Amino acid sequence: MENTGKKMLESAHEIIKKTAKSLGLSSEVITRLIEPDFIHEFNFSVGKKIYKGWRIQHNNTLGPYKGGIRFHPNVNRDEVQALATLMSVKCAVAGLPMGGGKGGVIVNPKELSEKELEELSRAYARAISLFIGPYVDVPAPDVNTNPKIMAWMAEEYEKNLKSQNSGLKSNEVLATFSGKPVEKGGSLGRTEATGRGGVYVLQALLAKLRSKINPPAGGQKSKPTVAVQGFGNVGYYFAKFSEDMGFKVVSLSDSKGAIYVTEGLSVETTLKCKKEKGSVAGCYCRGSVCDVRFGKPISNDALLELPVDVLVPAALENVINAQNMAKIKAKIIIEMANGPITEEAYEYLTEKGVIIVPDVLANSGGVTVSYLEWYQNIHNEKWTEAAVNKRLKEMIEKAFESIWKKSVAKRISLKQSAFEVAIERITKLSTA
Ligand code: GLU
Repeated sequence: MENTGKKMLESAHEIIKKTAKSLGLSSEVITRLIEPDFIHEFNFSVGKKIYKGWRIQHNNTLGPYKGGIRFHPNVNRDEVQALATLMSVKCAVAGLPMGGGKGGVIVNPKELSEKELEELSRAYARAISLFIGPYVDVPAPDVNTNPKIMAWMAEEYEKNLKSQNSGLKSNEVLATFSGKPVEKGGSLGRTEATGRGGVYVLQALLAKLRSKINPPAGGQKSKPTVAVQGFGNVGYYFAKFSEDMGFKVVSLSDSKGAIYVTEGLSVETTLKCKKEKGSVAGCYCRGSVCDVRFGKPISNDALLELPVDVLVPAALENVINAQNMAKIKAKIIIEMANGPITEEAYEYLTEKGVIIVPDVLANSGGVTVSYLEWYQNIHNEKWTEAAVNKRLKEMIEKAFESIWKKSVAKRISLKQSAFEVAIERITKLSTA
């Protein structure tokens, strides 16, 4: 895992350098795009335990640093830096007036009691409170952090501010963290936003490719098939909304394994079954009927190799790599996890004609609604869920359109196009 962070950082630097060079940017500008503004690395104590944490602020040309905080035993500086860099790109791609940042703590939160988790979250918030703020840096949830943790952090931040007489109004204090519980100033629709945004992107893509996915011959058009790896917040909502929108979800997985139901499965029934059985691998469901005749358990690796129209890695980094890239059969891949396809596999699959929607666009629904939460806090507004979803749809479709257009015009991949759009915006080459 130590290497994964390093590899991720190298890949991010490589594509930024390549893109910036193709845009004719000077080496000084490229260096500023690569090097983060601030790397905060610190140690903090919770009782007798000492933890190492980071908040890395990559670039704030477009607005306050923005990005999640992850709690994971394998977090390391390179990984946090890579993710902060990708947040700068993601916010620019999404058209947000925000820059990029990311935080992390080396910890396995699954080994902590609720009380210990709260103490850790509060101690981390105290440590970063010196360099965050509504117009400076706005953290959010990421891997293993959630609205409850954001509420603890926001409260701790507020306490800390009081002792400093900051002059910030209470709504501005609220705006310092996004992804908060709705009753503590969070936005309706934030929890579902990443999955929902991914489905909006898929719909926009299919509208461009209609003929490739639905074979015109044979009268009745078949529903596009979808396989989703990962059944956490992002994977679950992606699967649920794609099913609602008429896609046929044929395979789902969690860390323990996957199920494959060729006739299509019910996402809700699978969730209920997972809650009862502890994993999706034990579920064979169609509609409300769970029966072994309808499906079969497969491995997470086998899910990636299914003959589906749309493959959605929504779990871990680097799951599609040199080892399995030749076996991937999907025509479209939507990167809902951060960095699920290695650089080598990305090039190989793109060359083969697979259309890959990069993470910086596909999963940008989360940070987009984080921005809407920030906006509501700053302006003392409370939007309905329908209003949030409508704005998310407009914003993500606009982001998709500009990346699609450039990709077609320049005959480059969507990823290359996304990085070009982002770098142009960050370096203010373009105001589009
Ligand atoms: N952690 C999420 C991401 O990687 C959301 C960040 C945010 O809402 O600021 O995009």
